[in-house]
Amino acid sequence: MDHSDRQRRLHAALAEHKLDWLLVTHLPNIRYLCGFTGSAGTVLISERGATLFTDGRYRTQARAEVSGARIIIARKSPTLAAAEFLAASRSRTTQRLGLEPHSVTVGQREQLSAILKRKWKLISAPPLIERARMVKDREEIRRIRAAIKMGAALFQIARKKIRPGVKEVEVAAAMEYEARRAGAEGMSFSTIIAAGKRSAVVHGRASEVRIPRRGFVVCDFGVILAGYCSDRTRTVHVGRPTHDARHIYQAVLEAQQAAIAQVRPGVTAASVDAAARKTLRKHGLDRYFSHSTGHGLGLEIHEAPRLAAGQTQQLQPGMVITIEPGAYIPGKQGVRIEDVVVVTSAGCEVLTPTDKELIVV
Ligand code: ZN
Ligand code: ZN
Repeated sequence: MDHSDRQRRLHAALAEHKLDWLLVTHLPNIRYLCGFTGSAGTVLISERGATLFTDGRYRTQARAEVSGARIIIARKSPTLAAAEFLAASRSRTTQRLGLEPHSVTVGQREQLSAILKRKWKLISAPPLIERARMVKDREEIRRIRAAIKMGAALFQIARKKIRPGVKEVEVAAAMEYEARRAGAEGMSFSTIIAAGKRSAVVHGRASEVRIPRRGFVVCDFGVILAGYCSDRTRTVHVGRPTHDARHIYQAVLEAQQAAIAQVRPGVTAASVDAAARKTLRKHGLDRYFSHSTGHGLGLEIHEAPRLAAGQTQQLQPGMVITIEPGAYIPGKQGVRIEDVVVVTSAGCEVLTPTDKELIVV
């Protein structure tokens, strides 16, 4: 990972927003800027370079992982240590310090203003690093591909395990065991296995419920491999599907394909969402599609851009996004189909393998 290049691009963005410093407290952003993966850290970044503040537990790890930043081992909270470092750097002019508003608590902000009294202006910075992270470099795409490949193997396990009478958690456990055995750092999020009526629950985490004789099973899961997340949903059917079940499945699949066909550089995130919704409307199912069409993913499972109505962000080559429309009839049944795609100069490449025809087990 070229941390220096990432920092250089951030310097340009800081200058544009008239920020002298940025206090980076969101851990995935810290990892992105300098490679540090510990759970306690703060990075100060300015024209003069980057400094990572962490504590004694991470002395060895920081030296091994970090590139492109100075390391300071603090005896107190890394964020307060960074503030004291700034307070000690006597400057003649007023300094504008950008904060990441989503990761600084009200309490921390008060402590920062107590330390940085005169000549410091604390400013809620725009999401500069999140914006940079939207476009992945080659190494990041390689890692996401590897995580997705592992996810494909896990789905084969789910397929074999899903049978009437088996508990949802048993399916999730088999998948998660295999993920760890294959080298995953963890799951991207709590595995969703939602069977029968529960398939209509959008985020139906695997529960003690047993898979019924007939109905859909929504499987939504991902792994973290070398820091990068995968995310995929497949919906299988146990027993013979009804006419209605087939109709819903085909409509969601058609919506998913319509959304994928819309992905290319220059189109807005909202227009991809609209393509999925329009197709579901044609089938009378749009009111059952209750979430956005997709999201970026990378170091985090949910990143910018968000593919939803009103989102004016234009897609660019190198963005990695999910396309995951669904339809959920409350108390009855639900279907979601999700792939990860990377935006290319001509359109997009679907990274998620295996076909999407309705699987009946
Ligand atoms: Zn998912
Ligand atoms: Zn997703």
